[in-house]
Amino acid sequence: MPQASTRGSALVGSTTSSLPSGSAPIGSTRSSLPNGNIVVETIGLSKSYGQIQAVKSLDLRVKQHSIFAFLGPNGAGKSTTIKMLLGLTRPTGGSAKVFGLDVQEQSVDIRSRVGYLAQDPRFYGKMTARQTLEFVAHFFYSGPKSVIDDRIDETLELVGLTDLADRQVGSFSGGERQRLGIAQAQINYPDLLILDEPAASLDPMGRRDVLTIMERLRKHTTILYSTHILSDVQRVSDTVAIMNKGELVAQAPIDELLAGTESVTFTMTLRGDLDAVHSHIGTLPWIRTISREAVPADAGASEAWSVAVSDEPTAERELLRAVLSSDDVVVTNFGRRRHDLEDVFVRLVERGEEQ
Ligand code: ADP
Repeated sequence: MPQASTRGSALVGSTTSSLPSGSAPIGSTRSSLPNGNIVVETIGLSKSYGQIQAVKSLDLRVKQHSIFAFLGPNGAGKSTTIKMLLGLTRPTGGSAKVFGLDVQEQSVDIRSRVGYLAQDPRFYGKMTARQTLEFVAHFFYSGPKSVIDDRIDETLELVGLTDLADRQVGSFSGGERQRLGIAQAQINYPDLLILDEPAASLDPMGRRDVLTIMERLRKHTTILYSTHILSDVQRVSDTVAIMNKGELVAQAPIDELLAGTESVTFTMTLRGDLDAVHSHIGTLPWIRTISREAVPADAGASEAWSVAVSDEPTAERELLRAVLSSDDVVVTNFGRRRHDLEDVFVRLVERGEEQ
Protein backbone atom coordinates (compact mmCIF):
# COMPACT_ATOMS: atom_id res chain seq x y z
CA MET A 1 0.00 0.00 0.00
CA PRO A 2 2.65 2.53 -0.93
CA GLN A 3 0.01 5.14 -1.76
CA ALA A 4 -0.16 5.95 1.91
CA SER A 5 3.43 7.10 2.28
CA THR A 6 2.90 10.85 2.06
CA ARG A 7 -0.02 10.78 4.39
CA GLY A 8 1.73 8.43 6.77
CA SER A 9 4.89 10.45 7.11
CA ALA A 10 2.96 13.57 8.02
CA LEU A 11 1.05 11.56 10.55
CA VAL A 12 4.08 10.10 12.24
CA GLY A 13 5.84 13.43 12.42
CA SER A 14 2.90 15.08 14.06
CA THR A 15 1.71 12.53 16.56
CA THR A 16 4.09 9.97 17.96
CA SER A 17 6.49 11.76 20.24
CA SER A 18 4.28 12.47 23.24
CA LEU A 19 2.36 9.23 23.38
CA PRO A 20 2.25 7.18 26.56
CA SER A 21 3.65 3.74 25.93
CA GLY A 22 1.26 1.14 24.63
CA SER A 23 -1.18 3.61 23.22
CA ALA A 24 -1.66 5.06 19.79
CA PRO A 25 -3.14 8.25 18.46
CA ILE A 26 -6.73 8.21 17.41
CA GLY A 27 -6.58 7.42 13.75
CA SER A 28 -10.28 7.72 13.20
CA THR A 29 -10.35 11.41 14.00
CA ARG A 30 -8.19 12.12 10.97
CA SER A 31 -11.11 12.26 8.60
CA SER A 32 -14.75 12.75 9.25
CA LEU A 33 -17.17 10.19 7.91
CA PRO A 34 -19.69 11.40 5.39
CA ASN A 35 -22.39 9.16 6.78
CA GLY A 36 -22.45 10.02 10.50
CA ASN A 37 -20.47 7.45 12.39
CA ILE A 38 -20.88 4.57 9.95
CA VAL A 39 -17.53 3.15 8.82
CA VAL A 40 -18.79 0.25 6.70
CA GLU A 41 -22.13 0.08 4.95
CA THR A 42 -23.21 -2.57 2.50
CA ILE A 43 -26.51 -2.67 0.67
CA GLY A 44 -27.61 -5.91 -0.97
CA LEU A 45 -23.97 -6.92 -1.30
CA SER A 46 -23.72 -10.23 -3.14
CA LYS A 47 -21.08 -12.50 -4.60
CA SER A 48 -21.52 -15.63 -6.66
CA TYR A 49 -18.82 -17.99 -7.88
CA GLY A 50 -20.62 -19.72 -10.71
CA GLN A 51 -23.48 -21.62 -9.07
CA ILE A 52 -22.20 -20.93 -5.56
CA GLN A 53 -23.80 -17.92 -3.90
CA ALA A 54 -21.09 -17.13 -1.37
CA VAL A 55 -22.75 -13.90 -0.13
CA LYS A 56 -26.45 -13.19 -0.58
CA SER A 57 -27.75 -9.62 -0.42
CA LEU A 58 -25.89 -8.52 2.66
CA ASP A 59 -26.86 -5.31 4.50
CA LEU A 60 -24.19 -4.46 7.06
CA ARG A 61 -23.54 -1.33 9.11
CA VAL A 62 -20.43 -1.03 11.20
CA LYS A 63 -20.25 1.92 13.58
CA GLN A 64 -17.09 3.84 14.31
CA HIS A 65 -15.09 2.57 17.31
CA SER A 66 -17.04 -0.65 17.57
CA ILE A 67 -15.55 -4.11 17.76
CA PHE A 68 -17.76 -5.73 15.21
CA ALA A 69 -17.72 -9.52 15.13
CA PHE A 70 -18.58 -11.25 11.96
CA LEU A 71 -19.67 -14.66 13.15
CA GLY A 72 -20.52 -17.78 11.22
CA PRO A 73 -19.48 -21.35 10.52
CA ASN A 74 -16.89 -22.17 7.86
CA GLY A 75 -18.23 -21.43 4.41
CA ALA A 76 -20.70 -18.80 5.69
CA GLY A 77 -19.27 -16.10 3.43
CA LYS A 78 -17.22 -14.08 5.93
CA SER A 79 -13.90 -14.04 4.05
CA THR A 80 -15.63 -13.29 0.77
CA THR A 81 -17.31 -10.26 2.36
CA ILE A 82 -14.00 -9.05 3.78
CA LYS A 83 -12.33 -9.44 0.39
CA MET A 84 -15.08 -7.37 -1.23
CA LEU A 85 -14.65 -4.62 1.38
CA LEU A 86 -10.94 -4.54 0.63
CA GLY A 87 -11.49 -4.47 -3.12
CA LEU A 88 -9.74 -7.83 -3.51
CA THR A 89 -12.73 -9.41 -5.19
CA ARG A 90 -15.58 -7.75 -7.07
CA PRO A 91 -19.18 -8.03 -5.91
CA THR A 92 -21.62 -9.56 -8.38
CA GLY A 93 -24.47 -7.50 -6.90
CA GLY A 94 -25.27 -4.66 -4.52
CA SER A 95 -22.86 -2.07 -3.21
CA ALA A 96 -20.49 -1.45 -0.33
CA LYS A 97 -18.92 1.67 1.10
CA VAL A 98 -16.05 2.02 3.53
CA PHE A 99 -15.58 5.54 5.00
CA GLY A 100 -18.28 6.54 2.50
CA LEU A 101 -16.03 5.45 -0.39
CA ASP A 102 -17.17 2.92 -2.96
CA VAL A 103 -15.29 -0.38 -2.69
CA GLN A 104 -15.16 -0.86 -6.43
CA GLU A 105 -14.27 2.67 -7.50
CA GLN A 106 -12.10 3.84 -4.60
CA SER A 107 -10.45 0.75 -3.20
CA VAL A 108 -6.96 2.27 -3.29
CA ASP A 109 -8.10 5.15 -1.08
CA ILE A 110 -9.89 2.74 1.20
CA ARG A 111 -6.89 0.44 1.55
CA SER A 112 -4.60 3.28 2.54
CA ARG A 113 -6.78 3.72 5.63
CA VAL A 114 -7.42 0.07 6.46
CA GLY A 115 -5.20 -2.36 8.35
CA TYR A 116 -5.75 -5.98 7.35
CA LEU A 117 -4.65 -9.21 8.96
CA ALA A 118 -5.20 -12.21 6.71
CA GLN A 119 -6.26 -15.54 8.14
CA ASP A 120 -2.84 -17.10 7.97
CA PRO A 121 -0.27 -14.29 7.90
CA ARG A 122 3.14 -15.16 6.40
CA PHE A 123 6.40 -13.69 7.61
CA TYR A 124 10.03 -14.03 6.65
CA GLY A 125 11.22 -16.45 9.33
CA LYS A 126 14.74 -15.05 9.35
CA MET A 127 13.66 -11.48 10.04
CA THR A 128 13.18 -10.28 13.60
CA ALA A 129 9.92 -8.77 14.79
CA ARG A 130 11.49 -5.32 14.67
CA GLN A 131 12.80 -5.83 11.14
CA THR A 132 9.39 -7.08 10.05
CA LEU A 133 7.73 -3.93 11.35
CA GLU A 134 10.45 -1.72 9.85
CA PHE A 135 9.84 -3.33 6.49
CA VAL A 136 6.12 -2.59 6.67
CA ALA A 137 6.58 0.88 8.15
CA HIS A 138 8.68 1.94 5.20
CA PHE A 139 5.69 1.53 2.92
CA PHE A 140 3.86 4.16 4.94
CA TYR A 141 6.40 6.54 6.39
CA SER A 142 9.18 8.49 4.84
CA GLY A 143 10.01 10.64 7.87
CA PRO A 144 13.19 10.57 10.00
CA LYS A 145 14.39 7.15 11.20
CA SER A 146 13.99 8.11 14.86
CA VAL A 147 10.29 8.76 14.33
CA ILE A 148 9.80 5.42 12.65
CA ASP A 149 11.77 3.71 15.43
CA ASP A 150 9.52 5.33 18.03
CA ARG A 151 6.44 4.11 16.23
CA ILE A 152 7.84 0.59 16.06
CA ASP A 153 8.75 0.56 19.76
CA GLU A 154 5.30 1.79 20.61
CA THR A 155 3.69 -0.87 18.45
CA LEU A 156 5.85 -3.65 19.91
CA GLU A 157 4.77 -2.58 23.36
CA LEU A 158 1.12 -2.41 22.37
CA VAL A 159 1.16 -6.07 21.32
CA GLY A 160 3.45 -7.22 24.14
CA LEU A 161 6.41 -8.13 21.93
CA THR A 162 9.01 -5.69 23.29
CA ASP A 163 11.06 -8.49 24.86
CA LEU A 164 10.99 -10.50 21.64
CA ALA A 165 11.69 -7.57 19.33
CA ASP A 166 15.05 -8.84 18.18
CA ARG A 167 14.25 -12.53 17.90
CA GLN A 168 13.72 -14.16 14.53
CA VAL A 169 10.05 -14.58 13.71
CA GLY A 170 10.67 -18.19 12.63
CA SER A 171 10.93 -19.14 16.32
CA PHE A 172 7.67 -17.43 17.33
CA SER A 173 4.67 -19.32 18.71
CA GLY A 174 1.33 -19.08 16.92
CA GLY A 175 0.11 -16.45 19.39
CA GLU A 176 3.27 -14.37 19.01
CA ARG A 177 3.01 -14.47 15.24
CA GLN A 178 -0.60 -13.38 15.38
CA ARG A 179 0.28 -10.49 17.69
CA LEU A 180 2.98 -9.46 15.24
CA GLY A 181 0.37 -9.65 12.48
CA ILE A 182 -1.88 -7.25 14.38
CA ALA A 183 1.09 -4.96 15.02
CA GLN A 184 1.85 -4.95 11.32
CA ALA A 185 -1.77 -4.29 10.37
CA GLN A 186 -2.11 -1.25 12.59
CA ILE A 187 1.31 0.36 12.10
CA ASN A 188 -0.14 3.20 10.00
CA TYR A 189 -2.91 4.06 12.48
CA PRO A 190 -5.69 2.66 10.30
CA ASP A 191 -9.19 4.01 10.62
CA LEU A 192 -10.47 0.48 10.27
CA LEU A 193 -8.75 -2.75 11.25
CA ILE A 194 -10.01 -5.91 9.57
CA LEU A 195 -8.91 -9.19 11.12
CA ASP A 196 -9.83 -12.47 9.43
CA GLU A 197 -10.17 -15.17 12.10
CA PRO A 198 -7.47 -13.60 14.30
CA ALA A 199 -7.72 -16.18 17.07
CA ALA A 200 -8.85 -19.31 15.24
CA SER A 201 -5.62 -21.29 15.38
CA LEU A 202 -4.46 -20.23 18.83
CA ASP A 203 -4.39 -21.98 22.19
CA PRO A 204 -6.43 -20.38 25.02
CA MET A 205 -3.49 -18.23 26.22
CA GLY A 206 -2.77 -17.01 22.70
CA ARG A 207 -6.45 -16.23 22.17
CA ARG A 208 -6.67 -14.30 25.39
CA ASP A 209 -3.66 -12.17 24.40
CA VAL A 210 -5.10 -11.37 20.98
CA LEU A 211 -8.47 -10.43 22.45
CA THR A 212 -6.78 -8.20 25.01
CA ILE A 213 -4.95 -6.35 22.25
CA MET A 214 -8.20 -5.91 20.36
CA GLU A 215 -9.79 -4.40 23.45
CA ARG A 216 -6.84 -2.03 23.76
CA LEU A 217 -7.14 -0.96 20.14
CA ARG A 218 -10.85 -0.22 20.20
CA LYS A 219 -10.21 3.28 21.58
CA HIS A 220 -8.20 4.17 18.53
CA THR A 221 -9.87 2.49 15.60
CA THR A 222 -12.83 0.45 14.48
CA ILE A 223 -12.31 -3.31 14.41
CA LEU A 224 -14.18 -5.69 12.16
CA TYR A 225 -13.15 -9.28 12.66
CA SER A 226 -14.45 -12.61 11.49
CA THR A 227 -14.63 -15.60 13.74
CA HIS A 228 -16.39 -18.87 14.37
CA ILE A 229 -15.51 -18.89 18.09
CA LEU A 230 -18.59 -17.86 20.03
CA SER A 231 -16.97 -17.36 23.41
CA ASP A 232 -14.50 -14.86 21.95
CA VAL A 233 -17.33 -12.86 20.44
CA GLN A 234 -19.13 -12.65 23.73
CA ARG A 235 -15.99 -11.54 25.50
CA VAL A 236 -14.68 -8.84 23.26
CA SER A 237 -17.25 -7.53 20.78
CA ASP A 238 -19.98 -4.97 21.14
CA THR A 239 -21.85 -5.75 17.93
CA VAL A 240 -22.27 -9.01 16.11
CA ALA A 241 -23.43 -9.96 12.65
CA ILE A 242 -24.26 -13.63 12.27
CA MET A 243 -23.90 -15.18 8.83
CA ASN A 244 -24.92 -18.59 7.67
CA LYS A 245 -24.73 -19.96 4.13
CA GLY A 246 -24.10 -16.52 2.67
CA GLU A 247 -26.99 -14.87 4.47
CA LEU A 248 -27.13 -12.45 7.35
CA VAL A 249 -29.32 -14.02 10.02
CA ALA A 250 -28.86 -11.33 12.68
CA GLN A 251 -27.07 -8.07 13.28
CA ALA A 252 -27.30 -6.31 16.63
CA PRO A 253 -25.43 -5.18 19.70
CA ILE A 254 -24.56 -8.29 21.68
CA ASP A 255 -26.57 -7.19 24.73
CA GLU A 256 -29.64 -6.78 22.58
CA LEU A 257 -29.22 -10.19 20.99
CA LEU A 258 -28.87 -11.86 24.35
CA ALA A 259 -31.72 -9.89 25.93
CA GLY A 260 -33.97 -10.65 22.99
CA THR A 261 -34.08 -14.39 23.62
CA GLU A 262 -37.72 -15.31 23.84
CA SER A 263 -37.28 -18.39 25.91
CA VAL A 264 -35.64 -19.27 29.18
CA THR A 265 -34.47 -22.76 29.86
CA PHE A 266 -34.81 -24.65 33.11
CA THR A 267 -32.60 -27.64 33.70
CA MET A 268 -33.16 -30.59 35.97
CA THR A 269 -31.89 -34.06 36.65
CA LEU A 270 -34.47 -36.60 37.72
CA ARG A 271 -35.43 -40.27 37.99
CA GLY A 272 -38.66 -42.24 38.24
CA ASP A 273 -41.60 -42.64 35.88
CA LEU A 274 -40.41 -39.94 33.51
CA ASP A 275 -42.49 -40.72 30.44
CA ALA A 276 -45.69 -39.97 32.33
CA VAL A 277 -44.34 -36.66 33.64
CA HIS A 278 -43.07 -35.76 30.22
CA SER A 279 -46.54 -36.25 28.73
CA HIS A 280 -48.11 -34.23 31.52
CA ILE A 281 -45.90 -31.16 31.41
CA GLY A 282 -45.77 -31.28 27.61
CA THR A 283 -49.42 -30.17 27.60
CA LEU A 284 -48.82 -27.01 29.64
CA PRO A 285 -49.22 -23.92 27.45
CA TRP A 286 -46.03 -22.16 28.63
CA ILE A 287 -43.74 -25.12 27.84
CA ARG A 288 -41.95 -24.68 24.53
CA THR A 289 -39.69 -27.72 24.26
CA ILE A 290 -38.40 -30.47 26.49
CA SER A 291 -35.18 -32.19 25.61
CA ARG A 292 -34.14 -35.36 27.44
CA GLU A 293 -30.72 -36.91 27.84
CA ALA A 294 -29.68 -40.05 29.68
CA VAL A 295 -27.15 -39.55 32.48
CA PRO A 296 -24.88 -42.13 34.16
CA ALA A 297 -26.74 -44.09 36.81
CA ASP A 298 -24.27 -43.15 39.56
CA ALA A 299 -25.36 -39.51 39.25
CA GLY A 300 -28.44 -40.31 41.34
CA ALA A 301 -30.74 -39.61 38.41
CA SER A 302 -31.52 -41.30 35.12
CA GLU A 303 -32.11 -38.29 32.87
CA ALA A 304 -31.19 -34.63 32.46
CA TRP A 305 -33.90 -32.41 31.00
CA SER A 306 -33.71 -28.97 29.47
CA VAL A 307 -37.12 -27.35 29.48
CA ALA A 308 -37.53 -24.20 27.42
CA VAL A 309 -40.45 -22.04 28.53
CA SER A 310 -42.22 -19.02 27.11
CA ASP A 311 -43.49 -17.60 30.40
CA GLU A 312 -40.70 -17.40 32.91
CA PRO A 313 -42.64 -16.22 36.02
CA THR A 314 -45.23 -18.96 35.59
CA ALA A 315 -42.55 -21.56 35.02
CA GLU A 316 -40.71 -20.40 38.12
CA ARG A 317 -43.82 -20.93 40.20
CA GLU A 318 -45.21 -24.05 38.61
CA LEU A 319 -42.67 -26.13 36.71
CA LEU A 320 -41.08 -27.96 39.62
CA ARG A 321 -44.50 -28.49 41.25
CA ALA A 322 -45.83 -29.92 37.99
CA VAL A 323 -42.91 -32.32 37.67
CA LEU A 324 -43.24 -33.43 41.29
CA SER A 325 -47.00 -33.92 40.99
CA SER A 326 -46.21 -37.56 40.34
CA ASP A 327 -45.19 -39.43 43.48
CA ASP A 328 -42.90 -41.63 41.38
CA VAL A 329 -40.55 -38.85 40.36
CA VAL A 330 -37.47 -37.63 42.24
CA VAL A 331 -35.73 -34.42 41.19
CA THR A 332 -32.06 -34.32 42.22
CA ASN A 333 -31.11 -31.01 40.67
CA PHE A 334 -33.01 -27.99 39.40
CA GLY A 335 -31.76 -24.75 37.91
CA ARG A 336 -32.20 -22.07 35.31
CA ARG A 337 -29.80 -21.61 32.44
CA ARG A 338 -28.95 -18.17 31.18
CA HIS A 339 -28.90 -17.90 27.43
CA ASP A 340 -25.59 -17.23 25.89
CA LEU A 341 -24.59 -16.41 22.39
CA GLU A 342 -24.42 -20.06 21.51
CA ASP A 343 -28.14 -20.49 22.16
CA VAL A 344 -28.92 -17.42 20.09
CA PHE A 345 -26.66 -18.59 17.30
CA VAL A 346 -28.10 -22.08 17.16
CA ARG A 347 -31.66 -20.79 17.26
CA LEU A 348 -31.11 -18.23 14.52
CA VAL A 349 -29.26 -20.63 12.27
CA GLU A 350 -31.85 -23.37 12.78
CA ARG A 351 -34.67 -20.94 12.11
CA GLY A 352 -32.99 -19.87 8.88
CA GLU A 353 -32.70 -23.47 7.80
CA GLU A 354 -36.36 -24.24 8.47
CA GLN A 355 -37.48 -21.42 6.19
P1 ADP B 1 -16.04 -18.24 5.42
O1 ADP B 1 -14.99 -17.18 5.40
O2 ADP B 1 -17.26 -17.82 6.20
O3 ADP B 1 -15.51 -19.56 5.88
P2 ADP B 1 -15.95 -18.04 2.53
O4 ADP B 1 -16.29 -16.63 2.24
O5 ADP B 1 -14.51 -18.42 2.47
O6 ADP B 1 -16.59 -18.46 3.92
O7 ADP B 1 -16.73 -18.99 1.52
C1 ADP B 1 -18.13 -18.85 1.24
C2 ADP B 1 -18.49 -19.83 0.14
O8 ADP B 1 -17.91 -19.41 -1.08
C3 ADP B 1 -18.00 -21.26 0.37
O9 ADP B 1 -18.99 -22.13 -0.13
C4 ADP B 1 -16.75 -21.32 -0.45
O10 ADP B 1 -16.49 -22.64 -0.86
C5 ADP B 1 -17.09 -20.42 -1.63
N1 ADP B 1 -15.91 -19.76 -2.21
C6 ADP B 1 -15.08 -18.90 -1.61
N2 ADP B 1 -14.11 -18.47 -2.43
C7 ADP B 1 -14.33 -19.11 -3.62
C8 ADP B 1 -13.67 -19.09 -4.90
N3 ADP B 1 -12.60 -18.34 -5.12
N4 ADP B 1 -14.20 -19.88 -5.87
C9 ADP B 1 -15.29 -20.62 -5.65
N5 ADP B 1 -15.96 -20.67 -4.48
C10 ADP B 1 -15.49 -19.93 -3.47
